[in-house]
Amino acid sequence: MSEKLCVDTLMSELKNIYENKPETWDLTAALIKESLRYHAQHNEQYASYLDNARETVEEGELANIPLVPSTLFKNPAAKVLSGPQSEIQQYSRSSGTQGAVSLVPRDETSILRFIGGMSASMPALLGVDRMGNHVGIVLGKDADSAENLWFSYALACITIEIETEFMETKDGFDIDKTLDTIGKLKASGRDLIIVGPPFRALDLAEAYAERVGKALGGKDFIITAGGWKGEKSKAIDNKTFRRVVCKSFGLKSDKQIRDCYNMVECNTAFFECEHHEKHIPPWVYAYSVDPVNQNKKTDGEGVICLLDASANSYPCFIKTDDVGIINHEQCSCGRHGPTIRITRRINKVESRGCALKMAVGKNTDNANRFHQSIYRTPASHPLLKGAGSDNE
Ligand SMILES: [Zn+2]
Repeated sequence: MSEKLCVDTLMSELKNIYENKPETWDLTAALIKESLRYHAQHNEQYASYLDNARETVEEGELANIPLVPSTLFKNPAAKVLSGPQSEIQQYSRSSGTQGAVSLVPRDETSILRFIGGMSASMPALLGVDRMGNHVGIVLGKDADSAENLWFSYALACITIEIETEFMETKDGFDIDKTLDTIGKLKASGRDLIIVGPPFRALDLAEAYAERVGKALGGKDFIITAGGWKGEKSKAIDNKTFRRVVCKSFGLKSDKQIRDCYNMVECNTAFFECEHHEKHIPPWVYAYSVDPVNQNKKTDGEGVICLLDASANSYPCFIKTDDVGIINHEQCSCGRHGPTIRITRRINKVESRGCALKMAVGKNTDNANRFHQSIYRTPASHPLLKGAGSDNE
């Protein structure tokens, strides 16, 4: 069974795996290691990064796999590409609200799997069938207009397998058109999946309550993604957000409101179940580390690390800038597999601590020397010529 076939098979089987196949998670380690071998073969820089650590990594646990810090994608000189440049379909961009822009090379396989993972999550976690009565309303641009801005692209792709209308043009988000579209679709008996960043969903909910006021149905969904970036002054906690949106749209339950976690560097989006826990699919291994000593944590908060076998064109073994909790106990929804809860962004002190620890870590093998040179003297490292610290 090839790695490619296996990731795709897991996607097509996701609903069944969550519900009935607890043993599937035994496959994750093999899949991640196969992905590691692929990137070691097809990415010279990552191979040299692995170098002497290769054997330990092959035999040891997944947390030994050398991670790519998400900041590395912010430097255009960094060679994160696995395989030929000619295969790249898009350099996915971050929005740049956190400073420098990340560029992530994605080939067709990586993009199709990102979309495939999201499409699989709809029936697996929301119970939405693409042949059903739902229609998507995206409070953003369509994928072609997203111009590789990953956040917009990912939003546009969530409902890709069902009929979808887009509410943002080059003139911006059209709230009047959105209210109108909701009205027309509800009048024709359709169920809705409204997709957008939380600040826009909140604006829409408030306008809906004020100007329409008619309760939506029990099968309508609001899906949020992307957090409050750029709109932090409007940010409210998750529970308050769900209460306000639920009341404004007249939803029967806050189970109809689901959030989704993704970042440009990661090739998988993590959707919530009806208990508002974000489920990790079996092609991803997630763990967290102590921000001070970098040791893998067994419980509590830590810096989130994601190993994602679905990326083909770059090694998706990412140390993120997010802090959260990985829970290995079965979710109260009854589905199998771990869940991830993001609690906050990493702070400046922890970020420096991470970099410093990676730089002076107890191992002195080549993997760590790579980090030493990046973090100690980034400007002189061949991968990062001219780069400064752009993580803040
Ligand atoms: Zn759950």
